[in-house]
Amino acid sequence: MSSPLGHGLAGLVVYTLAKRFRWIDETSGPATMLLFSGLAALPDLDIVFNELLHAQQWFPHRTYTHSLFFALLLGLIVAWWLCRAGRVRNKNFYWLLPLTIATHPLMDMCCVEPPGKGGVELFLPFSHAAVYTPLFFMRSIGSYVGWGEPEWLAVLKVVTIELIGFGVLFLGLYGLFYLWDRIVPSRRTLT
Ligand SMILES: [Zn+2]
Repeated sequence: MSSPLGHGLAGLVVYTLAKRFRWIDETSGPATMLLFSGLAALPDLDIVFNELLHAQQWFPHRTYTHSLFFALLLGLIVAWWLCRAGRVRNKNFYWLLPLTIATHPLMDMCCVEPPGKGGVELFLPFSHAAVYTPLFFMRSIGSYVGWGEPEWLAVLKVVTIELIGFGVLFLGLYGLFYLWDRIVPSRRTLT
């Protein structure tokens, strides 16, 4: 797994794109930003459930809460609730929130895990197959621990790599936005 910080940053990427392309209101502030980041990190709550309920064999990590079905269902429920409560009026939340939650399993799929522990059960409840990606661009906390690193050092390494990776990504995004604003002329009314 990536760290909660890494997943939160992935949610922030979706929020940044949504704001930039006006898929959500430009006035959306820190509360909306926290909603996106929080939802992106949420699937790892299965670890907390396992710890509290000792339900590892019934509810293993990276299974139900890491499926696309869960992302779709929870995203739609939260969007529906926000619309119903009058918190948002923008219907784009109905696809943005499922997409935000789906960044979580997609990121986890790209992490190198200890042997026999990799993959995400992406298509539950329809299939128990663990899905991998060849795009392994970082190692998980578990892989460092599995190969003998102390847990604090594993977390530190993963968080550092995530901060650098997402820092570069955000710089690239804002660079592209800047270039786009310079290259594409603003619409002018011909008189
Ligand atoms: Zn996860």
